[in-house]
Amino acid sequence: LRRGSDLFAPERANAKGWDLDHRPTLAAIEAARAPFAQALWTAAPRLAEGPSQDVAKTMPVHSPASGAIIGHVAAATRTDIAAAFAGAAPWNVPCPTRKGTLNRAADLFEMHFGEIFALLAHEAGKTQPDAVAELREAVDFLRYYAAQATDRPGEARIFACIAPWNFPLAIFTGQIAAALAMGQAVIAKPAGQTPLIADLAVRLLLQAGVPQAALQLLPGGPDVGAALTAHARLGGVAFTGSTATALKIRSAMAAHGPAGAPLIAETGGLNAMLVDSTALPEQAVQSVIESAFQSAGQRCSALRCLYVQDDIADGFTKMLTGAMDLLETGAPWHLHTDSGPVIDDEAAQNIRAYIEAASAEGRLLHQGRVSSDLPAAAAQRFIPPTLIAVDGITDMNREVFGPVLHIARFRACDLTRVIDDINATGYGLTFGLHSRIDDRVDAIASTIHAGNTYINRNQIGAIVGSQPFGGEGLSGTGPKAGGPLYLPRFAPHSITQNNT
Ligand code: GLU
Repeated sequence: LRRGSDLFAPERANAKGWDLDHRPTLAAIEAARAPFAQALWTAAPRLAEGPSQDVAKTMPVHSPASGAIIGHVAAATRTDIAAAFAGAAPWNVPCPTRKGTLNRAADLFEMHFGEIFALLAHEAGKTQPDAVAELREAVDFLRYYAAQATDRPGEARIFACIAPWNFPLAIFTGQIAAALAMGQAVIAKPAGQTPLIADLAVRLLLQAGVPQAALQLLPGGPDVGAALTAHARLGGVAFTGSTATALKIRSAMAAHGPAGAPLIAETGGLNAMLVDSTALPEQAVQSVIESAFQSAGQRCSALRCLYVQDDIADGFTKMLTGAMDLLETGAPWHLHTDSGPVIDDEAAQNIRAYIEAASAEGRLLHQGRVSSDLPAAAAQRFIPPTLIAVDGITDMNREVFGPVLHIARFRACDLTRVIDDINATGYGLTFGLHSRIDDRVDAIASTIHAGNTYINRNQIGAIVGSQPFGGEGLSGTGPKAGGPLYLPRFAPHSITQNNT
């Protein structure tokens, strides 16, 4: 890699997005979303050989936010999976054609903002600001990887791109765009909870000119993912999801796949933030609120364990609980909503059981509120922002993927032990630090095990091109998405020529 090459600093600009403080923009969003208020979407296998003949497994898709049926999905069958591998063909066109097509797809995504915002709210429970950020990120991935695209070194491969429900558009699109930018064939498997937005994204990519044989879609649950990753013709996997699933994929690939097929995995975290007595309290509280509760805490980057220095802990906790009370947890399509539902009943039950157990142990410190006008069919999926006391991150044995923040106190003399405890979790995704002591900031930033460290700000919402995102240890294999080293992993090959 040459510094200064396109790979390091591709020429392009991030999407300008939608300004939600600008009334005409809001009116335009409202008008563009309106036709989709009662829409019924569909998702089905999209195969090179044509529509799947086997629609026996068609099921309704319910909105986590309202409980209403918003569409239907036909899950891929074993026959569809076999057909996808048989029909896959790499995207063997000149590099400028691939760049142009991916950029055209980015334009189409932006043009379809109304439908995309409606789907993100209805299918994934995304608030309007989250939906704006997600569409921007998807568009940024398309343009960033288009700018980096090169001729493919080495052989063609079939990549399985397995995406999560928490970024059903951005991460789904990012994985696909990277593989396509290198001319590989993609079989995309969206999360079981969010097939409809994936189907729309694939339709737009095809409309932009990506051939169907280079991009096939297989909706379905974990069984479809398992069958894909155990296929002998698999050339590599891009996966975002749980650490446990990533480990299963690695075993399946080792047992059945060709030797050396890359696994690019982005997994969970047990992310901490440290606030010392030199922090600016208002700034730190705001960062905590955003990091822990935005997107209902359903980001792998989200803050899970907050450490506050004991001298300021009482006052800080009071400010924090006051700020929690101001948060509005409610229907994602209302502009004043800060946080929407969690993704499904299983997630809600899991998180509620965890909170009840903490409460029974006397560790529940505070809960915010939920909106009073929630649809009855969905009400249990709206979980108020919750604060739980712990002695430290060592009390936490798993990632609770919801709006649940743990708080611990530390003394300045224990700082080294606290950092050791955080590092000892084995995860290493995001870390936040609020401090105005430069030497401390430098020392901690250089010893913490985290893929993304954020100082005196929130610790979510990495930006393509400026904050390449990805962790280490149990949090992922690297390379970081939206950074210069991501694309080469989709075409791993070195050519050495001796010219003497
Ligand atoms: N990239 C996202 C962020 O920085 C998190 C991605 C994820 O949750 O998988 O907040």
